[in-house]
Amino acid sequence: MSPELVNLIKGAQELNDDFDLTAVRTWKEAETGRKAIGYMPIYVPRELIHAAGMLPVGIMGAGERLEIIRGDAYFQSYICHIPRSTIELALTRRLDVLDGMLFPSICDVIRNLSGMWTMLFPERYVRYVDLPQNFDPEVGGVYWRRELETLRADLCRLAGRPIEDEALRQSIAVYNENRSTIRELYSARSRQPWVYPTSEVYLLLRAGNLLPPEDHTMLLREYLRLAPLETERRDRDQSRIVLVGTFCEQPPLGLLLTLERAGCWIVDDDLLLGLRWTMGDISCAGDPLQALVEAFLTKSAETAARYLPEGEHGRALVESVRRNRAEGVIFCAPSFCDPALLEQPMLISRLDREGIPHTQFKYSEDTGQFAVIREQAGTFSDSIRLWSQA
Ligand code: SF4
Repeated sequence: MSPELVNLIKGAQELNDDFDLTAVRTWKEAETGRKAIGYMPIYVPRELIHAAGMLPVGIMGAGERLEIIRGDAYFQSYICHIPRSTIELALTRRLDVLDGMLFPSICDVIRNLSGMWTMLFPERYVRYVDLPQNFDPEVGGVYWRRELETLRADLCRLAGRPIEDEALRQSIAVYNENRSTIRELYSARSRQPWVYPTSEVYLLLRAGNLLPPEDHTMLLREYLRLAPLETERRDRDQSRIVLVGTFCEQPPLGLLLTLERAGCWIVDDDLLLGLRWTMGDISCAGDPLQALVEAFLTKSAETAARYLPEGEHGRALVESVRRNRAEGVIFCAPSFCDPALLEQPMLISRLDREGIPHTQFKYSEDTGQFAVIREQAGTFSDSIRLWSQA
């Protein structure tokens, strides 16, 4: 690997490994009065935070590298891991750099976490972002506009300055650019997954939780320039699979590496879905708040965390399989993740109707042993290649 590419990936890895959020502290210290707002997965309107001159910071738990000492005491044993590690990060004062925290309404776990935050950190700004599950402009649209107006007013107060429409339009343009670069990267990976392995793509994508969006876009562009120069990267006889269920609590990097080493090229996934929740550009003309509303109503990703009418579940997944010429689907969800696991049977029955092979297993962000997953993914990959040759 070229030293430039090694450094790029190493930099992203270091950024993601830094629980003390040094990059966020450095960004804040560069100018007096700067503020940072944390947010949990999956979606919050980061454009509003950015337009207020603040840094949106994605908090995705602590993976496998942080020992949970106090976080376990706050939760029952039969829920996922991300709230425990997030509380652990907060109680060990690692999130003190954040001036506020947004909790989008994905599931009861996140809702309870937002209540806990309010009690544990009464001096901080906390908002439960109640995303609409009704996509009618006259119902969900009106409601979401009101929520965004409240959030805008709160952020203005916190920032000590107004969020002008023009600033918001510019922020929308910045995030459009970021999302379109991510789409470009995903489509490059789908064409040549051996050139853009998911274990690298994921690290670079995840850096977007901590970097200003302008810097993150530049990082991705640099990766898109450097990766194809790696002439020793060759296609191998591996299966093309779509990975589903990873939209909130993130799998450990070792799990992604294991899937690739077990013979699976990941050609689409829902990792870090919040960074690309809006499927397509948001209008930069007219009323920018209304543009955010319309984009939410019409361009939100199809995932377990949003309402879909009867019969619609799995449509987007089948389209992704076809579009990316995938040969199978791996359902890979966090243990006890209600949204992901409750949707799985509907997705599976759709795949069965379409004759698309699938397998499933669960993980926790701190899973450290991958031998069983390796065997299962390897067997799955071998079997779909055998079927395709039969
Ligand atoms: S992993 Fe699933 S259950 Fe846990 S907080 Fe996220 S969406 Fe909720």
